[in-house]
Amino acid sequence: NEQDTVYYEQFSDKDVVKFREAHQRLEEIYLQGKLTGESEIPLYARVYFEMRLISAILRRRHGNITSAILPFTGTCVPGAKLTVRTNGILDICERVNGTMPLGHVDTGINFESVGAIIKEYNRSVCLGCWRCPASKLCNNCFALCNTDDGFAKPKGEGSCDTIRTYSRQALRVAYSILEKEPNAFEDISYFNPELRLLEG
Ligand code: SF4
Ligand code: SF4
Repeated sequence: NEQDTVYYEQFSDKDVVKFREAHQRLEEIYLQGKLTGESEIPLYARVYFEMRLISAILRRRHGNITSAILPFTGTCVPGAKLTVRTNGILDICERVNGTMPLGHVDTGINFESVGAIIKEYNRSVCLGCWRCPASKLCNNCFALCNTDDGFAKPKGEGSCDTIRTYSRQALRVAYSILEKEPNAFEDISYFNPELRLLEG
């Protein structure tokens, strides 16, 4: 729709190939440093890759209680975060496409809209998630599944198959590193035992 971003249209196929090559090279530098401890890892590479690995390491575990109303994918609850358009309309966040507003600054959150959004999302995106091996790692959400007339599972780069492949890769990389160096991520604040976030 007319509110969709056109930002990515500026990049050619050549730019995408160049980006992927740079990504690959950075990944090699990161893994070399993490697995051998013999080379320094640029801070940028750490932030770039560990931002992805952290969700695999801190994934929901068996027995972790999920939201009863949104048990699958990594989505938020509408209203947990808000963005306000210049005309006062409230959206779930800055990444949704503007077709599912939550209310208005003058009238507040419309809870009927919130209920309708949750039902539509569960119906259109989450029906088969209970049997998906990546359900505790899936990052799909309202923004990623938003279409012009509701929600749908993304295709291509954002498809469920791709999510499962990326989830496997993230787990493989994270645990390859942890097998070699159990303290490899200890300086990430979440892993700092003093914070006691992983206990219990
Ligand atoms: S990006 Fe997704 S999970 Fe995050 S606030 Fe937006 S809709 Fe919710
Ligand atoms: S990858 Fe697809 S099937 Fe699996 S949890 Fe995510 S949305 Fe559901």
